[in-house]
Amino acid sequence: MKADVIESNENTEKMLLEGFKVSLVNAIRRSIINGVNVLAIEDVKIYKNTSFMYDEILASRLGLVPIKTPIELKGKGKFSFKLKEIGPKVVHASDLVPSDKDVVPAVPEMLIINLKDGEAIDLEADTMWGNGEEHSKFTPAHVFYHFYPKITIPNGKVKGAAKIASLCPVDILDGEKETLSVKKGKLGECILCKACEDYAGSDVISVTSDTNKIVFEVETWGQLSIKEIINEAISTLEDEVKEIAQKV
Ligand code: SF4
Repeated sequence: MKADVIESNENTEKMLLEGFKVSLVNAIRRSIINGVNVLAIEDVKIYKNTSFMYDEILASRLGLVPIKTPIELKGKGKFSFKLKEIGPKVVHASDLVPSDKDVVPAVPEMLIINLKDGEAIDLEADTMWGNGEEHSKFTPAHVFYHFYPKITIPNGKVKGAAKIASLCPVDILDGEKETLSVKKGKLGECILCKACEDYAGSDVISVTSDTNKIVFEVETWGQLSIKEIINEAISTLEDEVKEIAQKV
């Protein structure tokens, strides 16, 4: 078994997993979605709201603001935010005043409400710990996987190569002078949509999956880093497996 990071930036990590069982990869995916505890806004006390937005909608919007969740606090404490604004003002997540300098909105520029002249809001919002099993606002990441693509172009000469290449939504095909090929180093970016094969036929270009290789992608919503998310998800899985072992 082999795991390599093939793409990484601040919020996203793409890994190539070779020789892993799909069931294990899917269990990790599900544990990321449902088994990682993070903070989210749960209770909102609204003292004043003369905006166009109903209290319930405003509270629901606040619940969906991803909150940075320092891993060392895991499961401990209750944190809150205050928000007192008067329009005209575009209110962003960064306007929430935190009770703790380390527990803050993960995406400061996230829009909460656009207050018109004279409209006012005054509220307090308390956080609680939870995981995606309780509510999707606690899910820390967007996570998915797919098999690694395998593209076969059996013929040296391909009529309409440029047209076929132009159909690729991720622009990984080269089609010049009746020669069709996959751009160097771009195979992994194929999204297996089969637009090329549907147009040209599988005798011209065939797209299949290499079932021994899995591309696993995680995009954090900002509460935790990707490393923390994966570690926490695996730790939850381990605890569940141990629980079964102890009961047998
Ligand atoms: S399957 Fe889709 S993404 Fe892959 S090469 Fe063909 S058109 Fe491009």
